[in-house]
Amino acid sequence: MSATSSRLIKGTTGDWEMVIGLEVHAQVTSKSKLFSGASTEFGGAPNSHVSLVDAAMPGMLPVINEECVRQAVRTGLGLNARINLRSVFDRKNYFYPDLPQGYQISQYKQPIVGEGEVIVELSGGDTASVGIERLHLEQDAAKSLHDQNPTMSLVDLNRSGVALMEIVSKPDMRTSEQARAYVTKLRSILRYLGTCDGDMEKGSLRADVNVSVRQPGEPLGTRCEIKNMNSIAFIGQAIEYEARRQIGIIEDGGVIEQETRLFDPDKGETRATRSKEEAHDYRYFPDPDLLPLEFSQAYVDDLRAHLPELPDQKKARFISEFGLSAYDAGVLVAERESADFYQTVLSKLADKGRDGKLAANWVINELFGRLNKEGLAISGSPVEAGQLGAIVDLIGEGTISGKIAKELFEIVWQQGGDPRALVEARGMKQVTDLGAIEKAVDDIIAANPDKVAQISARPQLIGWFVGQVMKSSGGKANPQSVNDLLKSKLGL
Ligand code: ADP
Ligand code: MG
Repeated sequence: MSATSSRLIKGTTGDWEMVIGLEVHAQVTSKSKLFSGASTEFGGAPNSHVSLVDAAMPGMLPVINEECVRQAVRTGLGLNARINLRSVFDRKNYFYPDLPQGYQISQYKQPIVGEGEVIVELSGGDTASVGIERLHLEQDAAKSLHDQNPTMSLVDLNRSGVALMEIVSKPDMRTSEQARAYVTKLRSILRYLGTCDGDMEKGSLRADVNVSVRQPGEPLGTRCEIKNMNSIAFIGQAIEYEARRQIGIIEDGGVIEQETRLFDPDKGETRATRSKEEAHDYRYFPDPDLLPLEFSQAYVDDLRAHLPELPDQKKARFISEFGLSAYDAGVLVAERESADFYQTVLSKLADKGRDGKLAANWVINELFGRLNKEGLAISGSPVEAGQLGAIVDLIGEGTISGKIAKELFEIVWQQGGDPRALVEARGMKQVTDLGAIEKAVDDIIAANPDKVAQISARPQLIGWFVGQVMKSSGGKANPQSVNDLLKSKLGL
């Protein structure tokens, strides 16, 4: 199946292609809000982080927070995007109880960041490019609380005025996997940059997901927008459902109305909230309280020069410097903490020339595998980088076999301790003494004349012999020596 046909959905009238574009709202990592000095801290008592500006008291004036501007520019650079040296804040007017000003300060025609590009990682080591349309700064709204009082709705203004970056993609995605990979990668870039903590459960990162369908080669269809998604898995489910819903309507002779929908995770369905006719006319106009935002190219260049190494660069370096596969390098760089852990393991190795692939295998398969099983983050790993480095050293220098190393890893995971000392104390060293191995080989051959008789007809039986010898040595015999000895003794 070609890449094109595998991504199409079969309908009753032919094949359909989904088209997906995302608007991601990312809360800027900053101590104070976009236009006031109030704290952005999460989880404070209701209405405890509110300045007069956030409460929209008459006569209050917004003052731009330079740190939020810096973070938006850094994010733009991380998205390989054009930075606009001049941008404008507009008022987006609408009435809602959680919007005390009666308008949101946002950027409309002239955003701070223009077009860019994100490379996303797909299964099987494939990648795809997703275009960025723009990134603009805007204020978050407050929060209405409907379940605190039997007769009234209450409002918590703590979030009011917190800085958000709205990152708008081009309609470049064609599968739900690409959309999930895009959010994953965007989140990773933001976290590397330290411009958004990416915590979807706390709502620091939310996505509006636009979906349309078309038959291949046709112009873009009408889109529906699924609002406010804060789980990558649900984004995937919502897209799959929504595309099939639209195909069903069109194939039944209907038309898609542009509308806003919500995803119900319990039912796995999307449902309409408001249609285009009810949509707001926001009457955007430049905010007269704020001058256009201007900065110099030198300011941008300085921020660019101080960006951290980002996932794509790190991945390329891991591939060229340590000989990792694209897949392994991708897994390691997905989170900055994992990449750092891997590099710390390498720095702890006694032999700096040691195979980086061996260390990567241990970090990815043993450590990450075990952490996943326990639902732990890398920061909560009971096995430290130095301990894992020692285990890798012990394997690399031939002191222990891979199998014994797994037992050792388990002991270190459970009880801690110095891996090298544990190997000594528990007699876990690999037997490289050829005499001892030869004795074990001879014993197994002598005890199994029937198998020996079959070996020339079925040479693959050698595997069974190796297994028996390894078992009799408690996994400590050097597997290569066992193999060599068996082959010569059995005449293979
Ligand atoms: P609005 O604010 O009206 O939602 P934006 O320009 O902010 O408009 O966002 C539009 C989003 O919808 C972008 O992410 C874009 O990629 C996506 N989009 C536009 N047209 C389509 C389409 N036909 N199908 C799917 N997504 C689309
Ligand atoms: Mg929108």
